[in-house]
Amino acid sequence: MRLPMELEPAPTAPADPPTRAAEPGTRGRCPGPVAWERYFSRSAHAMVPSEVRSLFSVAALPGIVSLAGGMPDVSALPPETMAGILADVVREHGPTALQYGSAQGDPGLRDSICSVMAAEGISARPEDVMVTVGSQQALDLLARVLLDPGDTVVTEGPTYVTALGTFKAAGARVVQVAMDRAGVIPDELAAAFHRLTAEGRPAKFFYTVPTFQNPTGATVPAGRRAHILEVCRRAGVLVVEDNPYGLLHYDAAPTRALCADDPDRVVYLGSFSKTLAPGLRVGWVHAPAALTAKLVLAAESAMLSHSALAQLTVDRYLRTEPWQERLGGFRAGYRTRRDAMLRALSLSMPAGVSWTVPDGGFFVWVTLPEGLDSRELLPHALAAGVAFVPGTGFYTDGRGTRHLRLSFSYPSAELIDEGVRRLAAVIAAQL
Ligand code: PMP
Repeated sequence: MRLPMELEPAPTAPADPPTRAAEPGTRGRCPGPVAWERYFSRSAHAMVPSEVRSLFSVAALPGIVSLAGGMPDVSALPPETMAGILADVVREHGPTALQYGSAQGDPGLRDSICSVMAAEGISARPEDVMVTVGSQQALDLLARVLLDPGDTVVTEGPTYVTALGTFKAAGARVVQVAMDRAGVIPDELAAAFHRLTAEGRPAKFFYTVPTFQNPTGATVPAGRRAHILEVCRRAGVLVVEDNPYGLLHYDAAPTRALCADDPDRVVYLGSFSKTLAPGLRVGWVHAPAALTAKLVLAAESAMLSHSALAQLTVDRYLRTEPWQERLGGFRAGYRTRRDAMLRALSLSMPAGVSWTVPDGGFFVWVTLPEGLDSRELLPHALAAGVAFVPGTGFYTDGRGTRHLRLSFSYPSAELIDEGVRRLAAVIAAQL
């Protein structure tokens, strides 16, 4: 089977600049189709489909249990609740909901977002919040505002695949620092900052998903958080804390955000995609005033203003629904699925396979025995009716061959059980 991830090689920049002159002998005649690659910007050439996104169309085929995508379970949200809120918003606030708004976002929603952030120990002010189209847009706008081509960004290795794509499209060099089960290793981070400075390409910011990380599920404990902040402070490196899963904790209480302890250095990205619905496309960025001002200008240039309808819908949900109670219900559903996955892994995986045990979020990171390669395993897994994401998708340099990411957020507990059993049989057959 030809997988979509076996993509054509990325086009390289054209040797010659595009010319408007007609080819000899073509005057007055159509010179043939436009060679669009010749006209693309460097940034466009750096945009290539990620392995993970390419895999999703195959994973959605009938008969395949997809443990690949990290889609939230929106069925846990009663449709009549959302229908009622939408209708009320249009009826009561039509002229605002159907009109352009400000690029910083609706003031009422920004105020409600501050109450959500308080759950993770952050004392936020509405003027430091900017609404975004999911946290993905915050990443894109941050790249525009903070990065010049050739700048260095440090991330965890492995890390969220689409953040890697965004930084690379901005022309940044991405350096990935080793993690263990408690997140990035502070001494390795300090060594990387030191090395990069000595090489004359100091890191501009450290991008981190410190809570229930995508893809490993790892959470950085409190003591290590303080250490990481200290390392960044000493090196003069900014921190971008991406935290879409923080409120989906299944065992312990919520973790205090990095931003709570250093709001002047840490830019915080939040999202309602996992705690409400990704279809609304509402997220936010919390940043110091100087950065927020630039982000607002970048947002204006990207889209004038956000969907007022989506923002007012989220705001009304937060103000009129018992959202914390609902979140408790979502957590219970995901906890059941996580437990189903961990149980199935324990019961069916052959010796030599290990995995992380996440306290929250959507993902389990699996390590294969020496000699196995998750990319080679994938066609066999798809043939057996189960999809996962090979670990290489979360690195920039081909690492991750002995790893794979499993997601438990979307399939039922029964399907998770079946999917893990199929995968275990495929792995056992390769040993
Ligand atoms: N950051 C991380 C770590 C994610 O896992 C995701 C979604 N998978 C995003 C950001 C983007 O999410 P959204 O734009 O829907 O908020």
